[in-house]
Amino acid sequence: MSHLPIEFFARREAEMLALLGELVNCESPSTEKPAVDALGRRLAEILGGLPGTVETFPQTQSGNHLLYRWGGDDRPLLILCHMDTVFDLGTTAQRPFRVEGERAYGPGVLDMKAGIAMAVTALRALHETPGGPGLPVQLLINSDEEIGSTSSRALIEKLAAQARAVLVLEPATPSGAIKTSRKGVGDLRIETQGTAAHAGAAHAEGRNAIEELAHHILAAQALTDYSRGTTVNVGVIRGGTRSNVVPDAAEAEVDFRVTQMEEALRLEEWARSRTPQVVGTGVRVRYELNRPPMPRDTLMEVCYAKAFALAVQLGFFLNEEAVGGASDANFVAPLGVPVLDGLGAVGDGAHSDREFIMVPSLAERTALVAALIQSWQE
Ligand SMILES: [Zn+2]
Repeated sequence: MSHLPIEFFARREAEMLALLGELVNCESPSTEKPAVDALGRRLAEILGGLPGTVETFPQTQSGNHLLYRWGGDDRPLLILCHMDTVFDLGTTAQRPFRVEGERAYGPGVLDMKAGIAMAVTALRALHETPGGPGLPVQLLINSDEEIGSTSSRALIEKLAAQARAVLVLEPATPSGAIKTSRKGVGDLRIETQGTAAHAGAAHAEGRNAIEELAHHILAAQALTDYSRGTTVNVGVIRGGTRSNVVPDAAEAEVDFRVTQMEEALRLEEWARSRTPQVVGTGVRVRYELNRPPMPRDTLMEVCYAKAFALAVQLGFFLNEEAVGGASDANFVAPLGVPVLDGLGAVGDGAHSDREFIMVPSLAERTALVAALIQSWQE
């Protein structure tokens, strides 16, 4: 099968940059529904210019999600993008979209407004090609990825379960690698209860909730197992009111990352089996796995090999990396559906004020995305 070459998209670079600039300057912090919805309406307009339909999934808290479909529901190829960013409103007033040499800057430019611009450009190009994309395609643009995809998770899982493959246009690594393994992410909340008492007059009657918490903090930290890719971080502690009062409550917030589901289960079992160490106190641990791990299994190997071969045909080398952060690809992996992540632009500094993309990567990676879409025709 012949694919649209990188040069085809290089000729559209100015057009892609214009679209990307518009998307960046249309600010969309996850927590600002009106702003995210404004970007969603603009994206619906843009996608409305393509053959196919655009559906809005209204939300009460987060921004509305957007689904573009073309070619029916027979095992479509699903592309995943998110339109929200981690940047507050007003950031573009200080740092508007700008291109300097081979780099383009701006809040969310890499994560992942470039991915949206690439998806739109790839679909438009395929529709202009005789035969079109050659298979049913869907593009889901959700609004809450940066805050855990709480309101979009069910929709992602439903669409992904029916898809023949899922392409996630999150950023590539700085070296241009796609992400073939992502850790699962979750949190533990350790709460201890004691009995308040005067620290001088009635010390023996007090039951110190902070002392109790300290035992569980050390135990939680000890759950880290680098050899299995498991990290546990007690990141926040709270408790007590004054130094002369025996504290009756304390709590800790813990982040954990795992590469294997068995490790998530080990932590869950740990959370369930906590017992008080200080006589007269109580402890409770709440466990939540926000995103399951995406391991580099045999299916992932096959998907990577496919992408690698297509990149070679297009004329570039496509590396792969394992990363600690999670994305919506983590929801797809447990379904056993082929998924490729990190297909978006190459750049660095996501979630920071030095965020940028390498402009030439737009054409290169869009060519790969278009080729990948076509490659799932059988
Ligand atoms: Zn992202």
